Amino acid sequence: MPELPEVEALAGYLRQRAVGRRVDRLEIAAISALKTYEPAPTEVAGRAVIDAGRHGKFLDVLFEGGLHLVVHLARAGWLHYREAFPSTTPLRPGKGPIAVRVRLDDGSGFDLTEAGTQKKLAAYLVTDLAEVPGVAKLGPDALAADLPLFAERLRSRRGQVKGVLTDQSVLSGVGNAYSDEILHAAKLSPFAITDRLTDAQIATLHAATRQVLGDAVERSLGQRAAELKGEKRSGLKVHARTGLPCPVCGDTVREVSFADSSLQYCPTCQTGGKPLADRRLSRLVR
Ligand SMILES: [Zn+2]
Repeated sequence: MPELPEVEALAGYLRQRAVGRRVDRLEIAAISALKTYEPAPTEVAGRAVIDAGRHGKFLDVLFEGGLHLVVHLARAGWLHYREAFPSTTPLRPGKGPIAVRVRLDDGSGFDLTEAGTQKKLAAYLVTDLAEVPGVAKLGPDALAADLPLFAERLRSRRGQVKGVLTDQSVLSGVGNAYSDEILHAAKLSPFAITDRLTDAQIATLHAATRQVLGDAVERSLGQRAAELKGEKRSGLKVHARTGLPCPVCGDTVREVSFADSSLQYCPTCQTGGKPLADRRLSRLVR
């Protein structure tokens, strides 16, 4: 799933390539992806792209006249910039991977795509960002939050730090992959309880958050958007590396179920060498 660094890079790419261009046509190929009725997609035609940005994991393309195309890429969504399209024929609604196509006046443009059969990509055409439910309840940006704000937000919710860090209403932008990386960098157990963290641990976690996300943004911006693959991130130390050696200490990276997915961690770096109990598994054994 694209998180803060990938979405930031996509927004950066759109700022370079699309800003200043006028929209020829906005086509909706996956009807269910568009969550708003007013204004209609035809209203985007003729407007210039003014800016591209990010709110948490949401991508925001701003058009002339204050109209926003806000997109949540979900688990398997992505943005592909095209120098040219193979045909000028409008997309027909269907089962293909393209959900939304934006054609620009120089023949280039971009597709918002979603792989797989589970279609969760969500697009909104709005004049007021507060109309996008997911954006309205976002907490402060995880990369922008200073230490006092970060500490206040984290302590506002009592729970396992893995869950609190990925709760978009606490802090926005961090998902499953980067929370694994941040907790590994901070040498914290993913199951540590937020209101028991010391000031020093919170400060370490804050520094790790900035470091991990900042580095990932740099790496993502260094790649061309066409080559950016959400599922093929580089530089990860524990996430999606179960069974491989921890690059810091050499211990074996382990996995444990968490929420509806799983998390990865290094026992030596994060949990005093002790493997975390897999609740789902122990329930089955009992
Ligand atoms: Zn380690």
